[in-house]
Amino acid sequence: MLTCRKLKLKGIMPPKDFNCKQCGGCCLRLGFEIQITENDICRWEKQGREDILDRIDIYFFKSLVVGDAWFHPRTTKEVDRCPWLKRPQNKKYICTIQNTKPEACKEFPKSKGHAEEYNCPGFKKSH
Ligand code: SF4
Ligand code: SF4
Repeated sequence: MLTCRKLKLKGIMPPKDFNCKQCGGCCLRLGFEIQITENDICRWEKQGREDILDRIDIYFFKSLVVGDAWFHPRTTKEVDRCPWLKRPQNKKYICTIQNTKPEACKEFPKSKGHAEEYNCPGFKKSH
């Protein structure tokens, strides 16, 4: 069992004029560059989310407990897309761990430039 410090999850607001289109693009493109933070790990431990913890590779970095995502829980091999991304009946993409997703996911995009870098349409006006 990991030992956790009590770290408060910071409130993260979406950038002004941003409106997620649920196109799934960020999750499909960034899913495997997600750095799991100590906050994430502590939160999932408290929530009893072994299903999530089983899918990350946890290690120490600069005296912090961090992790890489996402791995198959049995084979421990890296999977080829985020296991939490679903597209019910070919509609908009949804994150099935939306309420407890990694901080890196909550923080995307950090700015308009960050969105453009990854072809995120969230700043474009809806028609
Ligand atoms: S790429 Fe942008 S608009 Fe599309 S799901 Fe991600 S955050 Fe939302
Ligand atoms: S955890 Fe959720 S928000 Fe993050 S990449 Fe997967 S589906 Fe997207």
